[in-house]
Amino acid sequence: MVFEQKEIDKWIQTYPLLKHIINLEPVVWLNPSLKKMNQLSPMAVNKEDMEDAARLWQRFAPFLANEFPETEKAKGIIESPLRKITNSKDKLNLIHHTNIQGNLYLKCDNELPIAGSIKARGGVYEVLYYAEKLAIEAGLVNQDDDYIVFSSNKFKEFFKQFTIGVGSTGNLGLSIGIIGSKLGFHVSVYMSADAKQWKKDLLRSKGATVHEFKGDFGEAIFTGRQQTIGSVNGYFVDDENSKHLFLGYSVAAIRLQKQLEEEKVLVDAEHPLFVYLPCGVGGSPGGIAFGLKQVFGDHVHCFFVEPTHSPAVLIGLLTGEKEKVCVQDFGIDNLTEGDGLAVGRPSCFASSISEKLVSGIYTIEDDELFKYLAILADSDGIFLEPSAAAGLDGPGRILASNYVQQHTLDTSQATHIVWATGGALVPKGDMEGFYKKGKSFI
Ligand SMILES: *Cc1c(COP(=O)(O)O)cnc(C)c1O
Repeated sequence: MVFEQKEIDKWIQTYPLLKHIINLEPVVWLNPSLKKMNQLSPMAVNKEDMEDAARLWQRFAPFLANEFPETEKAKGIIESPLRKITNSKDKLNLIHHTNIQGNLYLKCDNELPIAGSIKARGGVYEVLYYAEKLAIEAGLVNQDDDYIVFSSNKFKEFFKQFTIGVGSTGNLGLSIGIIGSKLGFHVSVYMSADAKQWKKDLLRSKGATVHEFKGDFGEAIFTGRQQTIGSVNGYFVDDENSKHLFLGYSVAAIRLQKQLEEEKVLVDAEHPLFVYLPCGVGGSPGGIAFGLKQVFGDHVHCFFVEPTHSPAVLIGLLTGEKEKVCVQDFGIDNLTEGDGLAVGRPSCFASSISEKLVSGIYTIEDDELFKYLAILADSDGIFLEPSAAAGLDGPGRILASNYVQQHTLDTSQATHIVWATGGALVPKGDMEGFYKKGKSFI
């Protein structure tokens, strides 16, 4: 349903920023509905749900350590390092003529084991949650057992009866396919046309079935959902409306709190924390922002970033229509090279929470993604996939907006965390191409 021009004009009258969004200009939107923690009415999930999710991760740690050798050192806990990127900070200040004060860190989810992207949090969690539920219902296990039993043939035979389906532009499919196949499930991944060939190949090599679609993500997810729930013992991981993905992501906040303590970084009124999160359907940034708010309250300020061609969550929150509108309704093409960000319609579940917790959203052009990828590579030797570099524009963009004044913040001792969402599994040749492209924009 594409709106008629008359209707779009009406929207623009109410929300003037929409004109710039439709013109594909990079914009900064500050959320007028941002709530203080003590003003929040109960939400669909709470802090206890997040802590329950953390305990589920813990129960599965022995299984993960056994099945994925790369998680052995961390005893089966899937976590990424927090790295200070001082050289990149200096470089950003230099080229933007800015003065970002305080610390700049990169949260390196590009290094997350199993999926090499932030989807190792949400996607892996939802499959583990489902597996545990089935196993408990079948009387195969209880929560006090050692979950190493999930590695046994008996469990793998049991899970063979079940199919997990997922619609994906790539990374979510990878995470579900890898963990689902490992447990013994049949996994069907419904992929959009723009999904990379290497991701399809990798999935097939892990035993997943890949269905390819001509259209975009919305179409893949629609058909995937229909086919999966229509099949016997089918379970669909619904990126457009999933509480479990959301809770899986949220646990990152508890882990980050510990990492900041280890770094002796304070978070309080004098030491505000700014976090910049690349956003597709809004599940991963929403879940992490939710978690961070539970941990740090009003002292954490979470910003999402979307490509100028795919501002799905921005349009959903700006208009208040959330999942009822998509970027195509406004004549925006949803074409971007930011894998995982090429999303036209926001998650229903995540939007209903983010609308109160996100401080703002900014948009970024594709060329900039490549530029930041190259800057980070040159300055600090870290290689990301293009979408994952989107947060590097955050400190400059937000400090130049009215946000700091509006909230009378002192940013001289602030900490900025750029959330790097993926990269580890990108083939070397592709990465070289990204880097070269980025260098041409510096
Ligand atoms: C999925 C993904 C995101 C965004 O997560 P959503 O839950 O879709 O908002 C960001 N970066 C990368 C690399 C991703 O794969």
